[in-house]
Amino acid sequence: MTGPMMPAAIAALSNILTQIWGEGYGSSVLLPRLRLCMWNETTPFMPEIVTPKLTILRETLVCEEVRRVPLILTQKRKRCVVKKIEFTAGPAPMPDEVIEQIDAATRDFLGTGMSVRSIPHRHPKVIDMTEETIGLLREVYRVPKSHAVVLVPGGGSSQFKAAALNLIPFPNTRKPVIGHVDSGHWAQAARAKRGLDDLEKAGVCSVRTVASTRGVQYRKVPHTWYEAVDERLPIGCEAFVHITPNDTATGGQLRLSGIPVHRDYGIIADMSSELGTRVIDVEQFDYIYAGAQKLAGETGVTIVIARKVLLQEDCLLLPGPLNVLAQVKSCGALFNTADIEAIYSVNLTTKWMLEQGGLAEMERRNREHAEFLYRMIDDHPSSFEGIVDPDSRSLVNVLFKTTNPNRHGEFADMCEKAGIVGIGPYPGVAKLYEYGDHFRVSLYNARTMKEIGLFCSLMDEFHHRAR
Ligand code: PMP
Repeated sequence: MTGPMMPAAIAALSNILTQIWGEGYGSSVLLPRLRLCMWNETTPFMPEIVTPKLTILRETLVCEEVRRVPLILTQKRKRCVVKKIEFTAGPAPMPDEVIEQIDAATRDFLGTGMSVRSIPHRHPKVIDMTEETIGLLREVYRVPKSHAVVLVPGGGSSQFKAAALNLIPFPNTRKPVIGHVDSGHWAQAARAKRGLDDLEKAGVCSVRTVASTRGVQYRKVPHTWYEAVDERLPIGCEAFVHITPNDTATGGQLRLSGIPVHRDYGIIADMSSELGTRVIDVEQFDYIYAGAQKLAGETGVTIVIARKVLLQEDCLLLPGPLNVLAQVKSCGALFNTADIEAIYSVNLTTKWMLEQGGLAEMERRNREHAEFLYRMIDDHPSSFEGIVDPDSRSLVNVLFKTTNPNRHGEFADMCEKAGIVGIGPYPGVAKLYEYGDHFRVSLYNARTMKEIGLFCSLMDEFHHRAR
């Protein structure tokens, strides 16, 4: 259908625009299927589109007449505490409100007159804050009583070994088996980067591959890995399966539905770029770990959520601070001198998540943001190409390239000029998996539709430059 838009449709559109850009942004917006040309190099932010003549073409809104007028988006940006628009994969930006509160706490932590950077970890206010943080994490992830929640030092990589060592007593004669789901670069790292393979060499357990999509360069993920467990793991042995639901580097995400509820193996999940992105059922998992720096706060602590009855305290190989039971038994998860600023950042970020509407709202936003960007890629095949198959794509780490490899630098330059940073790929991945030069845009919870719209407007501009 073509022709002028009905007033009701205009009102509906205006409503959507307001939702995306906020009050005062009139019709300056990029909808997934609304091709509006919006970038103006003289202004660092979004130009306004004045009186666009809109027509509807088979549910696709097409803007026929666009005048570019610089809009003072800086008015809104002024509130942002960082100067660049960061699409980094981790450490990743926290919400402005959180950064502001941490800044204040570096001068005075909760009225103590001491800095969060140097306050003793046994100060009563710190112990209260840490206990509150554990409570907040339990609330946002709906952690059942069967599971413990602790904050341990180090990042996700420390857990490649520590997770298994918290579940397997050592020395042992039983040699449990760890099944490995090889769904991406970080999944592989959990095994090969001083991880599970080391444990096998040390005689702690044996490791077997349950499912792998390495053969297709991780452009797909093995969603139904659980169907192969019986075949791949010896029957009757004590077993765990290690999965990486979202792979930050190769951009694939496993579906979490379908995993059998009744099973005779435990599940260890590296949720470093997953925890907080969508609703999960903690009960499904036996040991979850997630470095805080992507979705939960600052670098320095790792969230562990583990089924209590499975936790072992006596593993001689496990460093004390990584021993989950020892952490649970110590007051306020402070087994040793902890990174209080990082814990405080988790406290504030988790409160922010709850205030925003909790996990369901985070998932809704992430889906909306991801859909918007993937559609931009898919709708412009002459300019952009997604790396991961649609069925396996991550909600938060979007990998794509310019269809013409010679134009990669041109798009990178456009982004740099626009103040967009952190869109480079994970080091080595381009060659290892033959993706070539590509971009990785991370859309974690603190990202806004406005920022994603801005990024898409650059893609749109890039696309039209070539015509
Ligand atoms: N697992 C995943 C899924 C990751 O993305 C990362 C880091 N990007 C790690 C583990 C390693 O985390 P860290 O650098 O905190 O050790």
